[in-house]
Amino acid sequence: MLDIDTIAAISTPLGEGAIGIVRLSGPDAFNIIDKVFKSPSGKKLSEVNSHTIHYGHIVDPKTKETIEEVMVSVMKAPKTFTREDVVEINCHGGILSVNRVLQLVITNGARLAEPGEFTKRAFLNGRIDLSQAEAVMDLIRAKTDRAADVALEQLDGRLSRLIKRLRQEILEVLAQVEVNIDYPEYDDVEEMTNNMFKQKALYVQKEIEKLLRTAQQGKILREGLKTVIIGRPNVGKSSLLNTFVQENKAIVTDIPGTTRDVIEEYVNVRGVPLKLVDTAGIRETEDIVERIGVERSRKVLQEADLILLLLNYNDPLTDEDRRLFDTIHGMDAIIVINKTDLEKRIDLDEVKKLAGNRKIIHLSVREEKGIDELEETISNMYMTGEIENDDFTYISNARHVALLNQALQSINDALSALENDMPVDLVQIDMTKAWELLGEIIGESVHDELINQLFSQFCLGK
Ligand code: GDP
Ligand code: ZN
Repeated sequence: MLDIDTIAAISTPLGEGAIGIVRLSGPDAFNIIDKVFKSPSGKKLSEVNSHTIHYGHIVDPKTKETIEEVMVSVMKAPKTFTREDVVEINCHGGILSVNRVLQLVITNGARLAEPGEFTKRAFLNGRIDLSQAEAVMDLIRAKTDRAADVALEQLDGRLSRLIKRLRQEILEVLAQVEVNIDYPEYDDVEEMTNNMFKQKALYVQKEIEKLLRTAQQGKILREGLKTVIIGRPNVGKSSLLNTFVQENKAIVTDIPGTTRDVIEEYVNVRGVPLKLVDTAGIRETEDIVERIGVERSRKVLQEADLILLLLNYNDPLTDEDRRLFDTIHGMDAIIVINKTDLEKRIDLDEVKKLAGNRKIIHLSVREEKGIDELEETISNMYMTGEIENDDFTYISNARHVALLNQALQSINDALSALENDMPVDLVQIDMTKAWELLGEIIGESVHDELINQLFSQFCLGK
């Protein structure tokens, strides 16, 4: 712990909000703040009570220049996020003055923090475990209230507790088997051991499978359900997108997705976060400028979770419409027939045939009819009863999904070894492997390299 230095960073998003916070963490945090902070009463912040806020000015000790009017929070170790001494300087000015305060604390002994370094310290000092650290990262990125809730729950340690329980179960059976082998009390130790392993493996298998089933929903909550609106020009794609955006609370996003050919909007439809994409018409074309749009559109289609295929009630089906049905083959899609306020010219029987078992919705964007039904259909497709249940543990993190899959594989290996009357030490190896893999989720058997890589994904100042 002796070589730990004091780190500093701006911990509010640059350019957002009226206040900027410069955060300091480490053994020198109070020394450094005392060098640059002047309170009207002349008090030293190293001497005040922990968890108090103080008004004053940041003054450059060399030039005596006043840089910023501030409120400073003082938090003494260990009851802080990093478990170190923490100082937060709340500045009022814009980016410029926040940066000057940061510069000043750096010239007075702090080091600029690496991305995620505050959270990394919280982890290294035992304040949070790895899945909780990742939750902090998810929270920063969360785009919907739901996603933020999931991250908060994870931060609260719900996933950790579940993983720890599973590991404990595996550990107990491993220990019991050791005892059985060393001190056989019964005649048929082998059968008994195998039975114990089998019961436990089946139980852990069930629990992991349950968790993995939540992954799809976790992904939707985290990243939004990527919904692509396709259809011939003029069927009403942009109108539908606009209606969605107007009717539902738009989700603020900082993702630069808006381009000339593909428009993206985040909206919250009955709790399902939709990432709506309007494409510039998918069709063969020789026009080079349009082609870029078309290729991008194809790619967008491939990555879609859900397709809304729009048709025009007022037009007979065209070959282009029919081709669109081919394009969405094998994908989740809803067929939407728009402009039902106009005269019917579409062949509904053919639409039904093309749609197969996909849901067909009649819509008039102009008269705002059918929007409710469309929203309900989407919500029914992606919100299961489980997701509304607050007691539910989700996983939404790709690293967790991968580790759970590997752990499940080891459990399955153990089960098939048992099935094939393999020697018991093979089963032990598989069960131990599952135990280790689960440990990686909460950071109990991870390598430094992984830790560094994970924390480097954080934003600066977290
Ligand atoms: P896009 O090319 O598929 O994006 O189609 P737009 O959304 O730009 O709409 C094309 C035209 O159809 C516009 O003039 C819209 O006002 C009109 N439109 C959209 N929805 C409806 C509808 O439900 N009924 C009628 N009558 N017109 C509509
Ligand atoms: Zn359009």
